[in-house]
Amino acid sequence: MTASPSQIIREDIQAMSAYAVQSSAGMVKLDAMENPYSLPEPLRQEIASLVATSEINRYPDSVASNLKDRLRQTMVIPTGADILLGNGSDEIIQIIIQACARPGAVIMAPTPTFVMYRQYALIAGLKFVGVPLASDFSLDLDRFLAAMREHNPAVVFISYPNNPSGNLFSEKSISQVLVEAPGLVVLDEAYQAFAGATFMSRLSDFPNMIALRTVSKIGLAGLRLGYAAGLSGWIEEFNKVRSPYNVGVLTQLVAEKVLAHNSVIERQAADICAEREKLVMVLKSISGITPFPSVANFILARVPDASQVFEALRQHNILIKNLHGSHPLLDNCLRFTIGTTVENDLLISALRTILGASNHGVEAADRVR
Ligand SMILES: *Cc1c(COP(=O)(O)O)cnc(C)c1O
Repeated sequence: MTASPSQIIREDIQAMSAYAVQSSAGMVKLDAMENPYSLPEPLRQEIASLVATSEINRYPDSVASNLKDRLRQTMVIPTGADILLGNGSDEIIQIIIQACARPGAVIMAPTPTFVMYRQYALIAGLKFVGVPLASDFSLDLDRFLAAMREHNPAVVFISYPNNPSGNLFSEKSISQVLVEAPGLVVLDEAYQAFAGATFMSRLSDFPNMIALRTVSKIGLAGLRLGYAAGLSGWIEEFNKVRSPYNVGVLTQLVAEKVLAHNSVIERQAADICAEREKLVMVLKSISGITPFPSVANFILARVPDASQVFEALRQHNILIKNLHGSHPLLDNCLRFTIGTTVENDLLISALRTILGASNHGVEAADRVR
């Protein structure tokens, strides 16, 4: 007699749903904060020859010292800090939570935010406490400090800028959280390249801080590489939880090569920011859509009926993210990743058609009544 999964798998895991990735074949893909540009041809050729001569029969360098050196230089990681690498920053979030998962420990974050903080907390059997942001998505500092006093979180996650709202919380309020937090504070700077702002240089001021970054949003989402910087006391412990060969040979080689050409990444990020400013201006001019200010590579916007607009965009072959229903503050909100000029123009013209048509629809219905 063989057991069924329902007899063996943890009941709380059975009750969860997996992170939903939308199918995107053949669509204009503006749903996942990817960089829409490819790398210059000469750099692609260099990568090709690196791959051709790589020793994929060998395990990767477990400590990845070359890649870490390159990251330290390029991303200006302070000398006093150690570096942890992950198979995407997702894995680092999981490693940190797992390492801190004492019985009864609490994971806390301002919400709405990146959903994986909660997901990994639940997988580790921990309680997740989400503290609502203000309605303009700023950090409600008094409320957050009070929640920290009440729940005594082992780890606080702050997405800086915040996904999905696109804004930066004030530097002062984050400093206050860092000072008053009873445990670790992870500053998730996944969108740092677009926002400019960072706490990386302040690691020595805040010994309870980990700065978390990823190369996913700057053009290397397919490589799966995240990195965290913090005092060695923390990083040493996290390294015990990390799988020894979590970052593959090809990821190490290619990331190192691309980071050596950082000007390419910086130019692409600047282009994305310019496109973002153009797109915000146009969205503001379309009646029925209210974009929120963003310093990231995406824009959150409210429409009269998010699910209708989402579906209609899909009919136009454009895939975005519908956040309606995921948090009370995200009522009728959609998230648009910044694409190429051509892709953004397709989005704009589709939105004009859809919202124009639904406006007419409303007017027609009003006339009938
Ligand atoms: C996209 C994202 C991540 C995950 O990035 P990966 O490195 O691709 O795993 C982490 N944090 C935030 C806030 C994100 O938006």
